[in-house]
Amino acid sequence: MADYDYDVLVIGAGPGGYVAAIRAAQLGLKTACAEGRETLGGTCLNVGCIPSKALLHASEYFEAAKGGAMAAMGIKVTPELDLPTMQGQRLDAIKGLTGGIEFLFKKNKVDWLKGYAQFKDAHSVEVAGKTVTAKNIVIATGSSVTPLPGVEIDNEGGVVVDSTGALELASVPKKMVVIGGGVIGLELGSVWRRLGAEVTVVEFLDQLLPGMDGDVRKEAAKIFKKQGMALKLGTKVTGVTVAEVNGGKSAKVTVEPAKGGDAEVIEADVVLVSIGRRPNTEGLGLGNIGLELNARAQIETDHDFATKVDGVWAIGDVIPGPMLAHKAEDEGIAVAENIAGLTGIVNHDVIPGVVYTQPEIAGVGLTEEAAKERGAIKVGKFPMLANSRAKTNHEPDGFVKVIADAETDRVLGVWCIASVAGTMIAQAAQAMEFGATSEDIAYTCHAHPTHSEAIKEAAMAVTGKPIHM
Ligand code: FAD
Ligand code: NAD
Repeated sequence: MADYDYDVLVIGAGPGGYVAAIRAAQLGLKTACAEGRETLGGTCLNVGCIPSKALLHASEYFEAAKGGAMAAMGIKVTPELDLPTMQGQRLDAIKGLTGGIEFLFKKNKVDWLKGYAQFKDAHSVEVAGKTVTAKNIVIATGSSVTPLPGVEIDNEGGVVVDSTGALELASVPKKMVVIGGGVIGLELGSVWRRLGAEVTVVEFLDQLLPGMDGDVRKEAAKIFKKQGMALKLGTKVTGVTVAEVNGGKSAKVTVEPAKGGDAEVIEADVVLVSIGRRPNTEGLGLGNIGLELNARAQIETDHDFATKVDGVWAIGDVIPGPMLAHKAEDEGIAVAENIAGLTGIVNHDVIPGVVYTQPEIAGVGLTEEAAKERGAIKVGKFPMLANSRAKTNHEPDGFVKVIADAETDRVLGVWCIASVAGTMIAQAAQAMEFGATSEDIAYTCHAHPTHSEAIKEAAMAVTGKPIHM
């Protein structure tokens, strides 16, 4: 048998890759991880989940202090924005967490190969001018922003930015146009709206948040409008021009109805392009190992995360499925276990998704639309307005919806809009993982007063018997 430098070499140290590397090392495999960034943690820790949540959390406090719920509770303050400090705590969060992964690599004896890796053959890559060999190579190179044809992104103090630029703005824009009403557009649009920007979201489809339950999408649009975001749904951007205005720069975004009609120009001092992300496969040398991409430029794998090339595996944003950190992490654990000869499984039917706006928007499993296509269903809904804790906390917006199979009562999907929906959805995911029926959830004792009681009540509503409605 050939001698290799490592049992496992992971390419990319995002939540997929770093988790795979740590788990492989924990299982006794000699492991290295190649990462070209200056810090570990990938998109998630450096320019994604963590920095966006740092700004969402801080801006939520700022908005609460401006009035609304706080004033209703008898707390009157006039907040002053110190954006450099707010941005500083974002950078602190990144530094602490990326440094934490470096510590975990050392603790678990994972070698960090600093540089971008390129395949030479199925068992060797070149990193920073050196050839490294491994019995197994895991591709975990993640994804990057999908560009909008004809629109140039300039994150270095420019006007047209992607999510990375929108996280790093040094001042609050007066007018911001967000192209794409998906997760990034709504989260980062919310941050800058809370801090004072006039935000217009331009979405090609006739509703926000594609892929989410239809009721949730409609309710989300109502809530964001109420919060002061201008929504241009069913609208496409046909061009963006940037011009010098009074010593500064300003953009003109030309939009028109997606189905055709009169064009309109919206002015903005910042334009965020957030129309999706695409897998990172360029420069990896996949041609050298004969690995082809599918029509969506993703790497296909089997259920074990093995690609068609022996010894080469792939996980995370670079393979099909939702582009989510926790999905990548679970695949990282599973692929390491499969390489070690154990049985690593990810149940792709039960991957929760959360939009961290206020209220949060979360779901797991099938939408009502998708569930109906599969057969007869029963649906139970419960409004947060009727949940004692949400009402008392001045958080009346949202609802919980439980979708169950009409015949077996097995829960097929759960959707929540609530201040803490992201935390609430965990119990729904766990129940579904255990094959729960709506009755199982309805008869589970939930602590009072909690927002989670709305999940119990929605489950009770599946068979028509909620108490508080
Ligand atoms: P990545 O995190 O993209 O990591 C891949 C790494 O591979 C990168 O560091 C890259 O430098 C490295 N790399 C690429 N090519 C090579 C090479 N040839 N050699 C060496 N290294 C290479 N998801 C959530 O679940 N929750 C959230 O709240 C959330 N918020 C987000 C907010 C924003 C603004 C963005 C952009 C994304 C967010 N996501 C969120 C999505 C999440 O970040 C991704 O799904 C997740 O990071 C994917 O993990 P990954 O390991 O597959 O890839
Ligand atoms: P997205 O797919 O969530 O949303 C993109 C939106 O842009 C869609 O609604 C789409 O219809 C619209 N769109 C596409 N082309 C358009 C055009 N030309 N004009 C107007 N609208 C257009 O993508 P995203 O918001 O960029 O996020 C990328 C990925 O990052 C997502 O897959 C998401 O899973 C992940 N992410 C997750 C979180 C989270 O879990 N909280 C947060 C941020 C990002």
